[in-house]
Amino acid sequence: MPIRLRLTLWYLLILTIVLIAVAAGVYGFVATEERQSVDRILRERAQSFASAYAGEIKEEPEAKAFQEVGQNYGEDDVLIYARAGQIVWRSPPRLLRVADFRSIPDVRSAIDRAFGGREQHASFGDIRVIAAPIPGARFVFVSTESLAGRRGALLRLRNAFTIVIPLALVIAAIGGYFLAARSLAPVAQMTAAASHIEAKNLSERIAVHNPSDELGRLGAVLNALLERLERSFQQQKQLLADTSHELRTPVTIIRSETDVTLSRERTPEEYRLALEVIRNEATHLTSLIEAVLLLARADARQLRIARESFNLGDVIRQSVQSLRTIAEARGIDLSSTSEGPMTMQGDPELVRRLLLNLLHNGIKFTESGGRVRLDAHRAGPQYVIKVSDSGVGIPREAQEHIFDRFFRVDSARGRDRDTTSGAGLGLAIARWIAHAHGGDLRLLQSTPGGSIFEATLPASVSELAV
Ligand code: ADP
Repeated sequence: MPIRLRLTLWYLLILTIVLIAVAAGVYGFVATEERQSVDRILRERAQSFASAYAGEIKEEPEAKAFQEVGQNYGEDDVLIYARAGQIVWRSPPRLLRVADFRSIPDVRSAIDRAFGGREQHASFGDIRVIAAPIPGARFVFVSTESLAGRRGALLRLRNAFTIVIPLALVIAAIGGYFLAARSLAPVAQMTAAASHIEAKNLSERIAVHNPSDELGRLGAVLNALLERLERSFQQQKQLLADTSHELRTPVTIIRSETDVTLSRERTPEEYRLALEVIRNEATHLTSLIEAVLLLARADARQLRIARESFNLGDVIRQSVQSLRTIAEARGIDLSSTSEGPMTMQGDPELVRRLLLNLLHNGIKFTESGGRVRLDAHRAGPQYVIKVSDSGVGIPREAQEHIFDRFFRVDSARGRDRDTTSGAGLGLAIARWIAHAHGGDLRLLQSTPGGSIFEATLPASVSELAV
């Protein structure tokens, strides 16, 4: 059932209950008022009868006194009861056409109670009955008065209600339905807008008419979601485009090397050289694909990051050790210092990758005879790892871009086919690893005399960032 119909029905149900309750209240109030006014008439009649009787009894015997007073009440259906239940005097029957009122149970008990000294009232259909003790005497005065004549107002009220309430409900139903339809119209618009947004037009947004109401906030949330989707979609597209571009060079080299080599008969030495070129390119391709896969999975948040306890000092020593041969081959002094036990929580493999990328860059961009150092120490809740080199440095205008994907200061510079990276992804990956551990990676300084990178890694991570 559509929401607007449901809303209208609920609204109608509540309104019906309220209207009926109000009508019943008003009706009850008017009815009580009328009964009380009839009771007042009866009470006054009883009082005037009693005072007239009090006057007469001074001069006449009881029966005569009733006779005398009763004459004035001939029209009023008056009966005088003695305690034993016998009728001492009665006017001609008018409203209650019964010989003895005591034959009506309610009236009878009212009469009996009245002998206790207090005025009593009872009803018999539309007729109100009073039973009032006559002060100073052993008798009870009983009289009747009809409510029928006064029912007109009540009847008119009831008629008015039976017309006004259904009419009000119909008007409220129509109004409520239109109101609900009007307030829900943006939902229909949003549904239509959202349903035709797809990968091709992710940049489209849902129109938000009133940002401060609930639907406006829903629209804003949906738009923010689209924004994130678009960004991640764009990121993936960019990654794909850059990757294809990067893959082209090694694949072209492999193909042309193969074509040239196969174009005529070669000496074994020439074949060996050609195969070496192909192997280097294949190695480069492998590391490029690995790096791209890692970033793609990180973007898609599909990468599971271990949260194990390990010794950062060990990881540092292993990383330095694995690059020592390359450093020595290039005539670079590679060293590291670290203080005390360095237990940390996280993914040792990723941390190793971060350190390798930084150290490897240092080695790549440092001339023979230079040095690359890694210094690690604990500062409060985190470890600070500084990797410095005496290399060529990074031009000022390039410094803000070095963490961008596929960014290289100069693609010719430092291009080394033996490296694990070289497509401009090393620092992007390293920074992502630092962020994933709740830390950071930044370039502290870079001059033509060398560069210093600083990574901070929390020693323990209660909640890994990714
Ligand atoms: P790559 O994998 O190509 O080295 P990175 O993302 O690691 O890519 O680095 C991006 C660019 O930043 C490099 O191409 C290089 O120009 C520059 N760079 C990174 N580290 C250093 C460094 N220690 N010294 C000089 N330049 C560096």
